[in-house]
Amino acid sequence: MSNGIIQAAYVIAALLFIFSLRGLSNQESAKSGNIYGMIGMAIALIAAVASITGGLHWIVIAMVIGAAIGLYLAQKVEMTQMPELVALLHSFVGMAAVLVGFNSFLDPHIQNFSGGELSVHLVEIFVGVFIGAVTFSGSVVAFGKLNGRISSKPLSIPNKHYWNLAAIVVSIILMFSFVELKSGAGATISLLVMAIIAFAFGFHLVASIGGADMPVVISMLNSYSGWAAAAAGFMLGNDLLIVTGALVGSSGAILSYIMCKAMNRSFISVIAGGFGSDGNIANSSDEEQGEYREMQPAEVAQTLKDARSVIIVPGYGMAVAQAQGAVSNITEKLRAMNIEVRFGIHPVAGRLPGHMNVLLAEAKVPYDIVLEMDEINDDFPDTDVVWVIGANDTVNPAAEEDPNSPIAGMPVLEVWKAKTVIISKRSMNTGYAGVQNPLFFKENSYMLFGDAKDSVEKVLQNL
Ligand code: NDP
Repeated sequence: MSNGIIQAAYVIAALLFIFSLRGLSNQESAKSGNIYGMIGMAIALIAAVASITGGLHWIVIAMVIGAAIGLYLAQKVEMTQMPELVALLHSFVGMAAVLVGFNSFLDPHIQNFSGGELSVHLVEIFVGVFIGAVTFSGSVVAFGKLNGRISSKPLSIPNKHYWNLAAIVVSIILMFSFVELKSGAGATISLLVMAIIAFAFGFHLVASIGGADMPVVISMLNSYSGWAAAAAGFMLGNDLLIVTGALVGSSGAILSYIMCKAMNRSFISVIAGGFGSDGNIANSSDEEQGEYREMQPAEVAQTLKDARSVIIVPGYGMAVAQAQGAVSNITEKLRAMNIEVRFGIHPVAGRLPGHMNVLLAEAKVPYDIVLEMDEINDDFPDTDVVWVIGANDTVNPAAEEDPNSPIAGMPVLEVWKAKTVIISKRSMNTGYAGVQNPLFFKENSYMLFGDAKDSVEKVLQNL
């Protein structure tokens, strides 16, 4: 294929990626956004493969193996495991950037560069390997934290900020020596030592972030993976990779900013591992909170029937129980009984941005009754019944009432202000942040114990 056609294909693919991002910003257009992305990626792959001059069979073998693993994983993965999968995929991008970096350095074609051009190329390699290594190890830790193999509690080593600073300063010094030496054993050692430091830095950065701040970490690693891809694009001289990486990098950065705002966190503090790390988690969860009351499904059904307005607040437990279909059915039933039903969605409910919106859309809950936290928070005092289904941290009043709580300052859905609050969950266990929830012990709160799907179905039968 001629170079002109390949470049034209790259431009079309880049445009389709921009349309894709545009589409993904809204529920109604998300499907078409995905389709644009898929077409863009297919064009990009065909053009990239067509531009290769030798060793095509290796690429085809790698693509067939990669596609087979991807298809298998995509079919097998549960919605609740999506964030883990995304974290793992980010780690692949990071590792790819590291490998591309080492490959570009060892590639004999590097001799084609000289003078200032060579220095720029070496800086690209160094920065690409650094970002890639941080993304790789950080994403592996995020994967471990999300699937529970690594504790969600923050790692707190003494003088941690100084260690982070030292890692950055030493890496900068190594970069100067790498660019100065240009080739040979000295330069290779500089690159290798920096890669080891960057792996450790990425590990430490994510390990020191507490459970409740994980949403920011995920979007931050998403952003890093974009920059790692852009760095690989510079090293390979591939414009499409640069554009795509920049799109992912900047959209990830915007998402991180939105997540920080939603959680009332400072971006810098989160990435420096500052929040959720003051050791108060155990205190808050172990304290004796008082008595709680229970309701049975028949009583819940009666309470709902007697209400004029109901707000359903879903959380991670609804996703685990796959209760969204039953929730949609009960919504329809209540609306048919002339009861106003709306949904209150916290920006970090579930385990990935937009998790609840995706599940409710899948269950065909009308979009116009699904409201964001800011849109619905003032309406709780005028609401008869709030039904919390598998949410915990996102409805925890400790965020407002207890300044020592690890989630202090995080905006929450103020469900306790409603006349009656029903909470569906299986036990008195804490949520992801490991913090006990005083909501369960409030005078107007009632626990409905059991798997969320079973509970909702039982209430539906009683209706
Ligand atoms: P939480 O994780 O705080 O709580 C979920 C609750 O669901 C648990 O307390 C659990 O209690 C209950 N539950 C689990 N399984 C079931 C089931 N089968 N049936 C009924 N209940 C069940 O959920 P939230 O959505 O309120 O908060 C999300 C948390 O995750 C926040 O801390 C957020 O920071 C964090 N997070 C969010 C990410 C995002 O991007 N949205 C990414 C990473 C982390 P029990 O065991 O008693 O049933």
